[in-house]
Amino acid sequence: MYAEVIIEYNSKHIDKTFTYKIPSRLNIKPGMKVKVPFGKNTINGFVLNIKNDSNLANIREIIDIIDSELILNEELIKVGIYLKDKTLCSLTTAFQTMLPSSFKIDKNKDYSKYISYVILNNDEKFIKDYINNNQRYAKQIAILKRLMKDKKVKKEEINSSSLNTLLKKELVKIEKEEVYRINIKNELKNDVKLTKEQENVYLNIKNDFNKEKVFLLHGVTGSGKTEIYFKLIKDVINLGKTAILLVPEISLTTQILDRCYKVFGGDVAVLHSGLSNSEKYNEYQKILRKEVNLVVGTRSAIFAPLINLGIIIIDEEHSENYKQDSNPRYNAIDIAKYRAHLNNIPLLLASATPSLESAARAYKGVYKLLTLKNRIGTSVLPKVEIVDMQKEAKKRNLIFSEKLSNKILEKLNKKEQIILLLNRRGYSTFVTCQNCGYTYKCPNCDITLTYHKTSNSLRCHYCEYNKKLDSICPKCHEDALSYLGLGTEKLEMEIKKKFPMARVVRMDVDTTRRKNATANIINDFANYKYDILLGTQMITKGFDFPLVTLVGIINADTSLNIPDFRSGERTFSQLLQASGRAGRKDKIGEVIIQTYNKDNYAILNVLKNDYINFFKEEMKIRKTLKYPPYVYLTLIKIKSTDYNLALNNAIKTSKFLKSNLSNVIILGPSPASLFRTNNQYRFQILLKYKDEEIIKNTLKKLDEIFLNIKNVSIEIDIDPLYT
Ligand code: ADP
Ligand code: ZN
Repeated sequence: MYAEVIIEYNSKHIDKTFTYKIPSRLNIKPGMKVKVPFGKNTINGFVLNIKNDSNLANIREIIDIIDSELILNEELIKVGIYLKDKTLCSLTTAFQTMLPSSFKIDKNKDYSKYISYVILNNDEKFIKDYINNNQRYAKQIAILKRLMKDKKVKKEEINSSSLNTLLKKELVKIEKEEVYRINIKNELKNDVKLTKEQENVYLNIKNDFNKEKVFLLHGVTGSGKTEIYFKLIKDVINLGKTAILLVPEISLTTQILDRCYKVFGGDVAVLHSGLSNSEKYNEYQKILRKEVNLVVGTRSAIFAPLINLGIIIIDEEHSENYKQDSNPRYNAIDIAKYRAHLNNIPLLLASATPSLESAARAYKGVYKLLTLKNRIGTSVLPKVEIVDMQKEAKKRNLIFSEKLSNKILEKLNKKEQIILLLNRRGYSTFVTCQNCGYTYKCPNCDITLTYHKTSNSLRCHYCEYNKKLDSICPKCHEDALSYLGLGTEKLEMEIKKKFPMARVVRMDVDTTRRKNATANIINDFANYKYDILLGTQMITKGFDFPLVTLVGIINADTSLNIPDFRSGERTFSQLLQASGRAGRKDKIGEVIIQTYNKDNYAILNVLKNDYINFFKEEMKIRKTLKYPPYVYLTLIKIKSTDYNLALNNAIKTSKFLKSNLSNVIILGPSPASLFRTNNQYRFQILLKYKDEEIIKNTLKKLDEIFLNIKNVSIEIDIDPLYT
């Protein structure tokens, strides 16, 4: 018998499996991790396939099995191949992407945690005799008596010199027991009774449990979507099947996780980047050992090795976090569709602001559309107001409009909570000399440096570059540096100045680097240790804070001003999601949106809370300009530290594409929106087409051509988020 093995050697130059002979002493199965000879060394690999014969000469033998537990199952092997085809990555990259770091091909460390117990090593009569005959060894006798009573005692609780004697005499022995780092044992919460509207959605999906079918649940924030997920998952588990629930990011999972634990107790494994390697290892073990039926996690949890899936649910399906922005550039929704197809099960996509692509498919009937129009209970949708910052600027109100200031004061007095959104971190987004006009820029990228006051440093948000701030202008040596462009750090200071009585907490990438920082901020805010939560778009995602009655958008234009065909959609979705944070229980919520673009269609539709109208207007624009969902896109970037190399190869690439593709619109090469990052010049070519299949082979060829070109690299992003 022969095995096809994928090895850790990660190069597109040798992107294939290797064949090894299976020695008769080893019981090899597909999905096992094995040790094989490779050149003069040994190397780890995964068995992907077993076959009866091979026509190759001089086939070497598999040396050993590293892990008899099947890490990859049959389904995941298919998913890996799908991932490779979909994103054009190598097979090794595909499998490495699917596994948590402790299980990757080249790893074989055991991260298990054990507790040592002491137990008796002889029958009771023997021990009793020993006790009677050795009364003078009081400490030993005490240990033995305790063990007779308690059966097993943690080793650390027992006096060690007497214990050693007992061990030597073989009266007791040590037993190791594996424990998981996350170990949930709690009372399970009772079911909520679904409302009529919820029940209807629930039954619709339940009736199609045994079909490959995609549902789009368009439900306003707070309409009880999560409770429907739970009900469906319970049913699936009762049928003896398993489920995956994806959420966009870790800051969210803490709240949803608590809820999952309350409903499913220890039957849940979690997978997200906030876990330590050992925690991830444990959670993965729970899945491999079939000890849990539900996996909750972020993007990569879509690769969880659950067998017998019964449903996949993707919450906040519009979130950009479901797409990985480095190689392999996959979208978890595509993987979910493929796994739903393999298992013949429903995929539920849900959002208060579905992506335009999903909504278009649902309105066309490709997906089954389900809606929840009402919030649960007495809670109603918030009252939204727009403030024209052009007028406010004339009154010198640059950060807080009069209206927002008054509302903040009002809510503080009423002891209600406030959320303020500003989508830029740092203190000021550019530092300029008022004397000579000098502006700090990143030496590696085409972008201004952001000033961070806490560390008194200037930082590039694209590369690692950072430097201490000078006290005077480095060019004209005048003491005239000024800090422009408001960031969250400065906003925090301004709030403290203007509302000294308010207790303020900031949540952005800078305040949430440490483990559990996000959870702490959220818990403290939920427990009313703060009046105001301010932060970047991190704070707009799905939280449920009952005391929040005011959401202020400091500057609605940050996302509008990014030149991209999705900027309207992003703005609409972000603002509507942020508004959804206001007034979640019995109090009415208010939202104030500050903008310099008060007549923009995205902002006006937020004001009317009109998703469908936004959808119609946006679809018209997409149709005219030929953008998704009317066409598919692929974005190709050609990068080099040498300007001419980048340009020449970009031109060659464009010619190659033009002569190999038909029925494809090829735009460019043109400079990428950030032309230089990390010292690399970047040109881009955009492809627009109607049929996904016609480009695949040409792109594969193109990718191969670039393997042999030095000092230039190519990045192919199929279905990019940004152009
Ligand atoms: P969404 O996921 O749409 O934002 P949730 O499922 O989180 O909505 O529901 C919002 C709030 O209403 C939660 O506190 C939830 O427990 C509660 N809730 C949802 N459905 C019901 C119901 N049928 N009966 C009572 N409370 C409910
Ligand atoms: Zn930089």
